[in-house]
Amino acid sequence: MLYKEPAPIKDRENPFESMMSRFNIAAEVLGLDDETYNVLKSPTRQVIVNVPVTMDDGKVRVFEGFRVIHSNILGPSKGGIRYAPDVFLDEVKALAAWMTWKCAVVDIPYGGAKGGIVCDPYSMSSGEIERLTRAYTSSLIDIFGPDQDIPAPDMGTGPREMAWLMDEYSKLKGSTVHGVVTGKPLVLGGSLGRVEATGRGVMVSAMAAMAKLKMNPAQSTAVVQGFGNVGAWAAKLMAERGVKILGISDVSGAYWNDNGINIEEAIAYKNDHNGRLEGYKEAEKINPDELLTMNVDVLVPAAVEDVITIKNVDKIKAKLIVEGANGPTSYKADNIINEKGIMVVPDILANSGGVTVSYFEWVQNRMGFKWTLNRVNERAERIMKESFERVYAASKKYNVPMRIAAYIVAIDKVAMTYKYRGGF
Ligand code: NAD
Repeated sequence: MLYKEPAPIKDRENPFESMMSRFNIAAEVLGLDDETYNVLKSPTRQVIVNVPVTMDDGKVRVFEGFRVIHSNILGPSKGGIRYAPDVFLDEVKALAAWMTWKCAVVDIPYGGAKGGIVCDPYSMSSGEIERLTRAYTSSLIDIFGPDQDIPAPDMGTGPREMAWLMDEYSKLKGSTVHGVVTGKPLVLGGSLGRVEATGRGVMVSAMAAMAKLKMNPAQSTAVVQGFGNVGAWAAKLMAERGVKILGISDVSGAYWNDNGINIEEAIAYKNDHNGRLEGYKEAEKINPDELLTMNVDVLVPAAVEDVITIKNVDKIKAKLIVEGANGPTSYKADNIINEKGIMVVPDILANSGGVTVSYFEWVQNRMGFKWTLNRVNERAERIMKESFERVYAASKKYNVPMRIAAYIVAIDKVAMTYKYRGGF
């Protein structure tokens, strides 16, 4: 099956256009000049590859893959690789741009990139996925590199795929290159604290925002959509700070308990049930569409894109939204959220704990040295808090919502660096 340009997305906003709409507002507030605007708006490089892979039945199938480098102004580009049947170029372009802004918001020396392969990893054997990962790596051997472009996991990929990528890259280069990829298994040069880093950053952002809103975590309630890496860790760490998590959800459905869900127990249940909450009995099963509009103080979307839209935004009761997922709020919903006075800690700030600790992994690989968990967590927490304060200060200075403020901080940093480096 070859990738085909998708028909216009019927019920969804195009993620790249959604990103650009916010970019345009921030660029206007900043008074960005035309030259810099044109440089920053388009991805630097977009590569489409077609990789032949021998399947277990002996037949050769050709898979289409992408790697988009949105920017390398701040440094080597950084961004995950998504394996999904419906991944498409505009989605990868948007995700690559979000990586540029994310790295700039947390002030780490990386540009932004993203990759994707059109495939269904859940219907492929481990051998097929390994051959696909190695073939994709080999076809992008001139793009990847610890000083050029550094991939990481995203939806459908994890430490296993990163190990294959690192091994294939190292074989083709003739020496072991740990720093070509992050999110590796610990024994292969992965960092302590990387697994929980994104969820931890979501929790730190939530606590910082609650302090601004004068909300007491111990008297607040929350809903977390998505119970994977980001959602489960965010829920666990927020619950440890006293927040009562009344609702959680995953692909199997949504679960609610008026007295609060025991998150440790729910995680243990999920781990024993193939990563899913299906059949979880300690909570009432509710309609997943209603989860986001339930009466709670804090909403944490940590699953997929485009879930807070003009269809449900009117009914949202939370005072605070902390975006664990990338792009969970549609552009059109932004205005209504702002009119309702809901504070949003936007994706490019709230979920940047992951890339921050990926950066630490790369730093450790290059030093040939391992940091303690304490050092990783302390440094990541400091960066998240400082970044939150920078964005909050920009939102006051320019009198704009936190999302636009985050874009302003990011664009300003990349634009300033571009000016110092100079163009052609
Ligand atoms: P994951 O695959 O570990 O978990 C995703 C979770 O969402 C699963 O529980 C799945 O069942 C659930 N889910 C999927 N579709 C759903 C739906 N329609 N409704 C409710 N739940 C649904 O993925 P993850 O790594 O936790 O990533 C989640 C989001 O966070 C993605 O948008 C990802 O791009 C973003 N993100 C992840 C990281 C990271 O370090 N893992 C970093 C930054 C951003």
